[in-house]
Amino acid sequence: MIHLQEINCPHCISNDLVKNGKSSNGTQCWRCKKCNKYFQLAYRYNARKKGIKEKIVELTLNSSGVRDIGRVLKISKDTVTSVLKKNAKNEPLLSHNRRKKQLIKIRNRDKMQQ
Ligand SMILES: [Zn+2]
Repeated sequence: MIHLQEINCPHCISNDLVKNGKSSNGTQCWRCKKCNKYFQLAYRYNARKKGIKEKIVELTLNSSGVRDIGRVLKISKDTVTSVLKKNAKNEPLLSHNRRKKQLIKIRNRDKMQQ
């Protein structure tokens, strides 16, 4: 019996893929020839999974702390912080000062939970 599974790039849905070695835990890595992005079919680490970044932002809006979010989503708090920092950079509506205040707020909240 032959079992075939069609694999598509999660970024551009192309199926023009090449194998690109294996990750440290032995999972096959793929590279998309069309958009040149790398991905795995199944991630073991939750932070790489699809939709996790949106969840982090959503939980922050519900005033969850960095450690809270890390615990709930089973990812590192440093990953949460880095996603929030990148998100703040990409947010054109927020002025520099407001962004800075937001980050200080996040940091203070983090300190209070220690
Ligand atoms: Zn692609």
